[in-house]
Amino acid sequence: MTYDLRSIECKVRPKQFHPLIDEKRQEIARRYRSDNRKIGIVSLIVAAVFLLILLHFDISKQFVQVFRQHVDSRILLMVIYFSFLYAVYSLLTLPFAYLEGYRIEHKYGFSQQNHRDWFVDWVKSFFVTYVIGLIVFSVIYLVIPATPVLWWLWLSLIMVGFSIVLANIFPVIILPLFYKTKQLEDEDLKQEIVELCNRGDLQVRGIFSIDLSSKTTKANAAVAGLGNTKRILLGDTLLSKYGKDEILSALAHEIVHYREHHIWWLILWQSMITIVMFYLFYRIQPFVYSWFGFAAAHEIAAFPVFVLLFAAISYLVRPIGAALSRYYERLADKGALQLTKDRDAFIHLIARLCNEQLSVAYPNPIVEWYKYSHPSPGRRIAFAEKWVQT
Ligand SMILES: [Zn+2]
Repeated sequence: MTYDLRSIECKVRPKQFHPLIDEKRQEIARRYRSDNRKIGIVSLIVAAVFLLILLHFDISKQFVQVFRQHVDSRILLMVIYFSFLYAVYSLLTLPFAYLEGYRIEHKYGFSQQNHRDWFVDWVKSFFVTYVIGLIVFSVIYLVIPATPVLWWLWLSLIMVGFSIVLANIFPVIILPLFYKTKQLEDEDLKQEIVELCNRGDLQVRGIFSIDLSSKTTKANAAVAGLGNTKRILLGDTLLSKYGKDEILSALAHEIVHYREHHIWWLILWQSMITIVMFYLFYRIQPFVYSWFGFAAAHEIAAFPVFVLLFAAISYLVRPIGAALSRYYERLADKGALQLTKDRDAFIHLIARLCNEQLSVAYPNPIVEWYKYSHPSPGRRIAFAEKWVQT
């Protein structure tokens, strides 16, 4: 491998490309990722500057003071403050959401949406995020004044509980707002899936097809939900364009996630990370709050400080979550190979997904370490090639 210092991605000599990885598409993939990265960075800077302006010019404090004169209830004050902040933030970042979710997705031939459909989705996610955000915000500013010393622990435990509830309701309440799902209809494929599940020693309650094609050309499969709502989702984009062996390989990967309870393991690890994050936050916050002129963490007007500090800690611990996710993805790849015993189909699947979805097959190892939730396609293929049937 050689590295070009001007570029954040590493340049891989063509001879090291796997033969199934399309080199021309890799060039486009780098441009696609770089376009997205630029928009992400500018959007992040705009959000941070917005919060700093609120703090530097005392806008946040004055807003709370003005409303406190008219509103007696702390809860109502919290709702008004959060709604104002969230609305302004969403409007400020709307152009970036549009560039990222619409313009770039069209430029690279992924999006199937027109302006209207895209905007309707944006409005829906605006409200879903508003409700979730308002709950989180309210919990923070009710728990901190109620438990002055151990609020970091209580907040982490409540957030973990909340994320379990969210994971439960996601496939039955949130997902249907954006996509239609239905029971898999293809009887032949269903039969093969049942056989695969039997071989995997697993009773799967629901296998659904999800209409990804209404929005994108990208193919995908996933396990979603917990307990009774747990199900395997196969994108109709995967079902219509990929061969049966490739679909079964993708499914086998999801079956292993399902069988080995990877969602629960990830929730457990994520809970520990959350506790550590809140503890770090708790230890650092007195200095940061006083630096911005606030006496205590429970002041509603200090919320921009909370967001900035918490975001900074999240960026710091991000590689831990990414590494854990990659670990379970690797286990699922290994389990899928053992289940299907079809290495070629697996390699074809990964290479095809990489070529079609413009993933960078051989990213800079530092970038991969920092944020990749899955091993890079190059690594997944190399792993499958080395895999020995047991
Ligand atoms: Zn997976």
